[in-house]
Amino acid sequence: KLAMEVINKARSENRNALTEIEAKEIFSAYGMPVTKVKLSTSEEEAVKFAEEIGFPVVMKIVSPDILHKSDAGGVKVNITDEKGVREAYKEIMKNAKAYKADANIHGIVIQEMAPWGTEVILGSVNDPTFGPTLMFGLGGIFVEVMKDVTFKVAPFSAKQAESMLTEIKAAPILAGTRGEKPRDRKMLANTICLYANMIVDLKDEISESDANPVLVYEEGSGLKVADARIILK
Ligand code: ADP
Ligand code: MG
Repeated sequence: KLAMEVINKARSENRNALTEIEAKEIFSAYGMPVTKVKLSTSEEEAVKFAEEIGFPVVMKIVSPDILHKSDAGGVKVNITDEKGVREAYKEIMKNAKAYKADANIHGIVIQEMAPWGTEVILGSVNDPTFGPTLMFGLGGIFVEVMKDVTFKVAPFSAKQAESMLTEIKAAPILAGTRGEKPRDRKMLANTICLYANMIVDLKDEISESDANPVLVYEEGSGLKVADARIILK
């Protein structure tokens, strides 16, 4: 099983933190739509991969020692040409080293830039009493300031996944307010189910995880996981 290969590799290197690339491989193995990613280890390779993926691209530091990449100056979005890739490569490396001199750096990931969408957060904890538990909320201030999130112990039914979408105060935003079209709640509920399958299947491996942000599009247009994190037990 692909997920276990990724996990065992990290364990063999004595780490509990998976990189974004590894976490996205696992999310993808469970059927969740993630952005295309390619790991570059030189400026030349970064340029090549950006051209393969197609502009605009996003570039981010890949290091098991840097979990909050923006805080480390390790994320550049909307890079539109080769010059931009070269500049971003140098700057991200410089920032990462300034942030943590002894960080183990795997390289810089080049990824497709997902179109703008409503930001939601999915996450999991492995509760000592209840076991794998899934969290859902809207991104940005909704989670950080209002703590507007809902939890459900996995596994659960598709119906229960749908009901999670209505349990948050910000639910009207997903339903479409002020002339905004409704978001793809069907795909979101489906992704919640896939996420729940993952944390149940891997309950002996995953301590906590999140997909933050997940960008959710208009009804029928699906969603995309833009960032992923998994911490092993
Ligand atoms: P952090 O480790 O700081 O959470 P993220 O990977 O979440 O880093 O990147 C920070 C922000 O950049 C995200 O919240 C999102 O708004 C934007 N972003 C990241 N990756 C992408 C992507 N592939 N497409 C579009 N936007 C992205
Ligand atoms: Mg993030």
